Order: sequence, then C-alpha cells, then structure tokens
Amino acid sequence: MRIWLDGALRDADHAHVSVFDHGLTVGDGVFETVKAERGKAFALTRHLERLARSARGLGLPEPDLDEVRRACAAVLDDSPVPLGRLRITYTGGISPLGSDRGDSGPTLLVALGAATRRPDTTAVITVPWVRNERSAVAGLKTTSYAENVVALAAANKAGASEALFANTVGQLCEGTGSNVFVVLDGELYTPPVSSGCLAGITRALVAEWVGAKEADLPFAALEQAEEVFLTSTLRDVQAVHRIDGRTAPAAPGPVTARAARIFEERAADDLDP
Ligand code: PMP
Repeated sequence: MRIWLDGALRDADHAHVSVFDHGLTVGDGVFETVKAERGKAFALTRHLERLARSARGLGLPEPDLDEVRRACAAVLDDSPVPLGRLRITYTGGISPLGSDRGDSGPTLLVALGAATRRPDTTAVITVPWVRNERSAVAGLKTTSYAENVVALAAANKAGASEALFANTVGQLCEGTGSNVFVVLDGELYTPPVSSGCLAGITRALVAEWVGAKEADLPFAALEQAEEVFLTSTLRDVQAVHRIDGRTAPAAPGPVTARAARIFEERAADDLDP
C-alpha cells in the first residue's frame, strides 16, 4: 500500500515522518477523515475547506489545497477499495523538542484505509468530561484527540460506540467523533458550533437537506428527546437506541428514519456536494 508523503506516493512500509515532527511530539497538526466510495472522495471540497480553516486556526501555513486534492486522487487511484477512509494529516513539521514551531515547513500525509459500514443504530454513553467552547482550538479538527480517545474507550468498555460531551456551561455539545441531533416536540435540533462542537460536514448536509434548527440545548435534553441520532463521515445518520444503558424510545424513530433516507439518497446523487 502506498501513501502520499511530502510530495510523492511512497510505499507505506518505507515512508518516514521525523521523530521530531510537531504533530507527533505535541499534537500540532490538523486532519480530515474523508469517506471514499468506489474510488471517489465524498464532499472533498468541504473537507478541504475545513482543513484550511483548522490550519489557519492553529496558525499553520496555508495548505496547498490543489496539492492535497492531487494527493487524495493519487492515493485513491493507487489502491481502490469499495469503501474507504481517506486520512489527510497536516502538521507543523519538524521542530526542536518543545512547543515552539520550527521552520521546516509543514508535513502533509494522505493515507487510505478500508472502512466498514456502521450499524444503523448504536448505544452511547454520556461522560463527565467537558468540551471547552472557549478553548483556542474549539471547533478545529486538530490531531490532539487524546480526550476523545479516552472518552471513546470508556464508551467501548460500557458496550457503546460513542460518548457524548456537554460543554462548560452544561449544554449538549457533540460526540468524540460525531455530531448529535435530538427531536423535541417533533422538531429536529442540533447544537450550534458556538457550543464547542466541530462544524461536522454530515451535520451541515443533514441540516440543509432535512431541515434542523440550531439551538443551545441543556445536556438533559438527551433524556427528554423523542429521538436522538448521530452524524459523521463514517456513520452517516445513525440512530441512538441506548443512552447510559437506558433504552431510548424506538430507534430509528420517524424523523431519524427520514433523515437517514434523505441523506442516503442525496449523498448517492452527488459525491462532492
Ligand atoms: N465531531 C468530532 C469531534 C469529529 O471528530 C467528527 C468527525 N470528523 C464529527 C464531529 C463529525 O464530523 P463530520 O460529519 O465532518 O465527519
């Protein structure tokens, strides 16, 4: 298998990133996970825009999006998989040990892995750790995912596939790798980006195609909701059937089922919306 690293396709087993790469030593980097179906990247333009936004947020040099696009195409052409995840990683590059960024220029890495279709419904847990909506990196897709890794491990230990965070003021925020939607009194809501959640691409498409209101919601809305579902690149629309071991009302409920159907139909029509 070959990956793209610093300007060329290279054999993954012999490709090297420096042990002093700032992405590795202090998590100074940004990334994207893009769904690849039948050799084509889904919503690539939106992912590239978000990559550039995240890089700007960290003060990294502006990524050359034409190069990133070429890298994605090269990797996809090189090892076609029926369903895959393209991982774009862009870091602060080589730097002396410490938090100061060096002047080597950024590292760009694009790799492709196989993906499997997620089940239509899942269990989630809530966690006591919070998203800090006032953090300098709130809403940026940085390579510092340690908190997400810890929360996801707690979810897996509890037999669930996702953990949901509140923010520092007790509002519903997002999952470790997904956005959350709730149905209250028949209306579909999702937390705004100001809650500290990532501006998910699936979230935006579902909101646009299905119609959802952005609203600050108390974390307890999860208990009151008639339906809860998650969105992400690899989950699409996924109904939540258990929250902290409690069975949620029938999942997928009618609003979730409609959202899943519309998303599937529209997404199949347009691979780069
Ligand atoms: N929140 C977080 C923290 C994520 O990592 C992801 C996955 N990228 C999402 C939400 C969902 O975003 P998207 O729909 O763009 O995959």
